[in-house]
Amino acid sequence: MNHRKSIKKFSFGPYRFPLFRCCRTIICSVLFVLVLIPIIEAQERYTVPWDKVANETLEHFQALIRIDTSNPPGNETKAAEYLKGVLEREGISAKLLALDPKRANLVARIRGNGFKRPILVMGHTDVVGVQREKWSVDPFAAVRKDGYVWGRGTLDDKQDVTAGLMLMLLLKRQGVKLHRDVILLCEAGEESFDKEGVRHVIDKHWEEIDAEFALAEGGGGVIRDGKAQSVNIATTEKYRNLVQLVAKGRSGHASVPTPDSAVLKIANAVIKIGAWVPPMQLSETTRTYFEKLAEISPPEAAARYRAILDPAKQTEAERYFARNEPRHNSLIRTTLAPTILKAGFRSNVIPSEAEAIIDIRALPEEDMVQFHKRLEEVIRDPGIEIKLVSGVGPDKAPASKLDTKMWAALEKTQKRIYPEATLLPMMLTGFSDLSPIRSKGVQAYGIGPLMLEKDRLEGVGAHADNERILEKSLHDYVQFVWYAVLEIAGTK
Ligand SMILES: [Zn+2]
Repeated sequence: MNHRKSIKKFSFGPYRFPLFRCCRTIICSVLFVLVLIPIIEAQERYTVPWDKVANETLEHFQALIRIDTSNPPGNETKAAEYLKGVLEREGISAKLLALDPKRANLVARIRGNGFKRPILVMGHTDVVGVQREKWSVDPFAAVRKDGYVWGRGTLDDKQDVTAGLMLMLLLKRQGVKLHRDVILLCEAGEESFDKEGVRHVIDKHWEEIDAEFALAEGGGGVIRDGKAQSVNIATTEKYRNLVQLVAKGRSGHASVPTPDSAVLKIANAVIKIGAWVPPMQLSETTRTYFEKLAEISPPEAAARYRAILDPAKQTEAERYFARNEPRHNSLIRTTLAPTILKAGFRSNVIPSEAEAIIDIRALPEEDMVQFHKRLEEVIRDPGIEIKLVSGVGPDKAPASKLDTKMWAALEKTQKRIYPEATLLPMMLTGFSDLSPIRSKGVQAYGIGPLMLEKDRLEGVGAHADNERILEKSLHDYVQFVWYAVLEIAGTK
């Protein structure tokens, strides 16, 4: 039967009634569109003119590098005021929160619908000082050369400040619909854990930065043979614990040495500490780190990273780390480094007192009361007094988790920006401003731009002479922060 004829027939049956068929098509189309709208992800909904953004990124980045915020003394207010000016010209209000008027922190917020708790994006405005004579360019001129921007703070941490600034400008310009507030914090005093920086904001203005998730410095990644190899995201960090060892002995003429020498006692204690290997402990982060690292390492190294996870084989791998991969050794245990020895004032006088400072970097899981007891047993000398030095770093904080929405957003964004790379969760052996933020219950992740492997090996990274960032890395990083925040904060 001719189909056309059949639909001309008048009938109450739906399939034979042309008017109904027409309505059906319209209804289906509307439903189709309604179904389609919710699956347009926030990451896809906004079109950013990245070429134009790249020029603007460079302009702000260079301007920030040219503001010398070497800490000490910091003078971070100059950078905070620059940022405030840029934000306010675009209608984003920003506040300066300062314990010391010269060392202001900046906070700005773009409001969402309040459905979910905010995300905090952080960067620090201070930088470490320079030895100018060791630089091949002016460290505060933000010179563009060989595809890099050179200068103090290019990798620590004005790239984060700039990425945060560009994020806020783009959110505002694009009118992004957010289901959580996005907060930018540009803090002072990170490099010396100064009381004027994040500690001041946490203690006196917590409501300004209270968030479910936070992103800040601490991660990064490696480019090998032109390809992104790994993207590292810091989920936890060791914390610092300083002890002072003091020995007393009889003073006297150097021509008549006695066995009761303060210098010898301290030297013995330091040797015992050097020989002590505290037990290995692996966490969710370090286990996953070695598993993933094995996937992207040459066969011999991969075997070692798998061995460290295998109780039957790990002793050998531990020994290898201790000798050849000190950073990995530091990831698997609490470490102790003697850093300062003090004794004597004249070469022919036996001093009555000697002192050593031991910098302990503890795993977040370490029970420090037990650890100090064990340290006493290791030193085994009643003539040595062990004193704790306080205020040397943030309190210990729990690790951020790998099963959060933020982690998923970072994973998705990594696949978008660095598709060929492997994502590695990481523990920092140092500490950052994320520790005090984590202590407040925030799930906080350390991110960062990628570096060429050769630059890493040559040591031109954070705090180094000739610190520099690949321009492409900077621009990729601005996009990484943008897409990660859109994913976690943009409405679907
Ligand atoms: Zn830093």
